[in-house]
Amino acid sequence: MGKTTGFLEFDRQVEKYEPVEDRIKNYKEFTIPMESKEVKEQGARCMDCGIPFCHSGCPLGNLIPDFNDAVYNAKWEKAATILHATNNFPEFTGRLCPAPCEEACVLGINEDPVTIENIEKNIAETAFEKGWVVANPPAERTGKTAAVVGSGPSGLAAAQQLNRAGHLVTVFERDEKAGGLLRYGIPDFKLEKSVIDRRLKVLEEEGIIFKTGVHIGIDIKADDLKKDFDAIVLCGGATVRRNLPIEGADLKGVVQAMDFLAQNNRRVDGIKDLGEEIKATGKDVVVIGGGDTGSDCIGTSFRHGANSVSNFEIMAKGTPERPADQPWPFWPMRLKTSTSHKEGAERFFSISTKKFLGDKDGNLKGLVTTQVEWIKKSGQRPTLKEVEGTEKEWKCDLALLALGFTGSEMTIAEQLGLEADPRTNIKASAKNYMSNVPGVFVAGDQRRGQSLIVWAISEGRQAAHHIDTYLMGTKSELPLKGDGDLPRI
Ligand SMILES: Cc1cc2nc3c(=O)[nH]c(=O)nc-3n(C[C@H](O)[C@H](O)[C@H](O)COP(=O)(O)OP(=O)(O)OC[C@H]3O[C@@H](n4cnc5c(N)ncnc54)[C@H](O)[C@@H]3O)c2cc1C
Repeated sequence: MGKTTGFLEFDRQVEKYEPVEDRIKNYKEFTIPMESKEVKEQGARCMDCGIPFCHSGCPLGNLIPDFNDAVYNAKWEKAATILHATNNFPEFTGRLCPAPCEEACVLGINEDPVTIENIEKNIAETAFEKGWVVANPPAERTGKTAAVVGSGPSGLAAAQQLNRAGHLVTVFERDEKAGGLLRYGIPDFKLEKSVIDRRLKVLEEEGIIFKTGVHIGIDIKADDLKKDFDAIVLCGGATVRRNLPIEGADLKGVVQAMDFLAQNNRRVDGIKDLGEEIKATGKDVVVIGGGDTGSDCIGTSFRHGANSVSNFEIMAKGTPERPADQPWPFWPMRLKTSTSHKEGAERFFSISTKKFLGDKDGNLKGLVTTQVEWIKKSGQRPTLKEVEGTEKEWKCDLALLALGFTGSEMTIAEQLGLEADPRTNIKASAKNYMSNVPGVFVAGDQRRGQSLIVWAISEGRQAAHHIDTYLMGTKSELPLKGDGDLPRI
């Protein structure tokens, strides 16, 4: 695969970025595309490694050595066909995936792994540029109907797969446009929304019906939906945000990250009526939470023109290298430094926010923290202990809470009598994605809890296979992970 000696000849290269001072002036993506010769060389680094552990690292089972080889041989259309065989939306994962495949790459044992994610993005972009991604409606319809509730990556993947099997699919989305967190969570500088729109156009041309601005459970009762469709798949995400219930949490200026990000994405989309404006302009911003959401708040704050941006993380600072107790090919918990972090944020680790401080008018003016340490005892989960004498006061007029999500909303579950786990993830077995109510399936973050785009697409695909089997009464021909057949783009 690739070029047998490629990994000895070429070093790993990734896309370069526009300088910080230029890119923070706008919300556009800021990667500088690689020359196709450079991408070919990166494909050449894929070794003929016998057992491609990258396959199992990828929740989609992407056929990575095969598309690397096609890229190395400049067979871009073939590469696009191979990639789309397992991934409905490589243009999303090629930009946004944390790339568990690269952590599992065999070359990564003692060298820099193959730049799989970048190659994936280049294949996807070439496919769109060359006009190879075209609507491919099913040859015939089955007469069965399926409702997809939620239009994030899991809903869109489920919809496309079910439509390919010939079912008439309607996607219901309560937001004004489809895309889920791709559209209203992730900022444009990581994913320009035209990238979602061009894919939605193809899905519509394939015959999928989109009904946006429709909140299932409120505008249409979930049990009415059940009467109208032969199968339902819930792809509503894990939308319940984690709070920080400490003194001062109700001050003006303590804001949930998702309110900040969703409002900004709508502003970038040209929407004027946004309610009370949440801006970081000229402010000392503290982002509490060190994950992707926190990182997106940092990049957005810099683009607003914040005075300063600090990022607090309660976990201890990791190392950029793979920790010794998390060996290859497992996913390691290393220190991740995003492009937004590099735009000038100061990061603080092992820090806990104790209270928010306000002025007499109820405006946030500062906050108080302590340092914490994580006590590890063998066989037990680490516990948190405050370090005495480390209390510190910080100036802050905007605190963004990026503390993750606790689970999914329960309205639909209650209307349909669905069972949920204690975290409010709706219960559906990974064996067939069906809930305790026959004909009602669940996929994505609503089933597995807060996760990743690549998992959402994988879940949507897997669920579609089982829904098709349920609808037709015979084993579905839609691929499951690991089938590795090569259907149309
Ligand atoms: C700020 C942020 C940044 C992230 N960055 C990354 C990243 O860089 N890489 C990565 O891999 N992952 C990232 N993630 C995680 C990733 O976005 C999610 O795991 C993924 O979007 C989950 O997909 P989903 O389809 O399950 O749900 P979602 O994308 O959450 O979509 C659910 C959709 O269902 C709709 N919905 C819910 N209930 C109803 C209802 N009753 N009626 C109608 N519609 C309904 C919602 O409005 C929403 O549009 C990020 C998450 C956040 C919040």
